[in-house]
Amino acid sequence: MATTLPRQIATTLRTSPNALIACHVSPDGDCIGASLALALALNRLGVPAVVGSADGVPEMFTDLPGAAEIMTVPPVEAFTTAVAMECSTIDRAGAFAEALQRARTLINIDHHLSNAGYGHLVYWDTSASAVGEQITEIIRALGTPVDAAIAQCLLAALVTDTGAFRYPNVTPHTLRLAAELVEAGGSIHRVVERVYETRSPGSLKLLGMALASVRLSADGRVAWTVVTPEMMAAAGALPEDTTGIVGMLRAMRGVKVALMFEVTPDGIRASIRSRDGARSNVIAETFGGGGHQGAAGFTLPGTLDDVVMKALAVVDKELHEADGARPRTTGNEVTRKRGNRKTR
Ligand code: AMP
Ligand code: MN
Repeated sequence: MATTLPRQIATTLRTSPNALIACHVSPDGDCIGASLALALALNRLGVPAVVGSADGVPEMFTDLPGAAEIMTVPPVEAFTTAVAMECSTIDRAGAFAEALQRARTLINIDHHLSNAGYGHLVYWDTSASAVGEQITEIIRALGTPVDAAIAQCLLAALVTDTGAFRYPNVTPHTLRLAAELVEAGGSIHRVVERVYETRSPGSLKLLGMALASVRLSADGRVAWTVVTPEMMAAAGALPEDTTGIVGMLRAMRGVKVALMFEVTPDGIRASIRSRDGARSNVIAETFGGGGHQGAAGFTLPGTLDDVVMKALAVVDKELHEADGARPRTTGNEVTRKRGNRKTR
């Protein structure tokens, strides 16, 4: 699969008179970076390809090559070929969903744990650390050399979806690819600088407020917080400034599942992060959302209190299932632990 599908997709795109590449709503660095890399590669081959993002481009990715040309409103004309970039369902493309549907050939590329399987060509690979890894396969099949601009976009994808190469989704392949992209002229430091070291005052104020009002379950395994429009206004924060809050909650000792509930015009948006066997995607899927084992989300209509209560009940169930699935510790592990402690 991993060899023929990228080739099939490359052939379709290379022979297409035009192409639309659509990001999911609340786009992240993986989605934006992978989309821009594919568009650049196609443009180099003379295929007019445009990137669409219903929610625009977060400030931290505006320096990526081609970011300024990203459309936020779909054009009226139909596209021959369209690519849905890591949209588990087609409506995740927001305002671009209809444009995707109208294309003669729809290509669905995703690495999330759940995907509805829509489209004519479905390239779904849950082992990819980032959809950027899959796009690299397609670019290789296109035969376009990976120049510094394409490398920078692909690095933005890899760095952000691996938390700067810290998450368990990192494989030897991810690291080899990253090395190749650096060799091609890309800079990991530049992505890290923009994403983690150039935070707006508003985002840090909001982080402070969200951390100050964190709630913990009685056993300390679940941490959650809320972000309201009033908090956003008081902090002077933008919608994208919630990035990183839920990850900080998961960093707390003993926390297995962390949640951030955000009041948005579409309903309550929940961001979930988990570890040690608790599955964020299973929690999110209960409410019609999706994602990965360690990071997932959903949006639900209702009041904040109502959604928080429902979500916490499902988290509790998932934690009990994760407890049941955990292998029993062996005597050896206990001995090792004791040994480690002695050396400290
Ligand atoms: P976020 O918490 O927004 O950073 O999202 C974490 C992960 O879950 C990302 O891979 C998202 O693409 C995915 N995700 C978030 N919300 C949804 C949703 N409503 N449906 C499917 N996937 C989602
Ligand atoms: Mn991704």
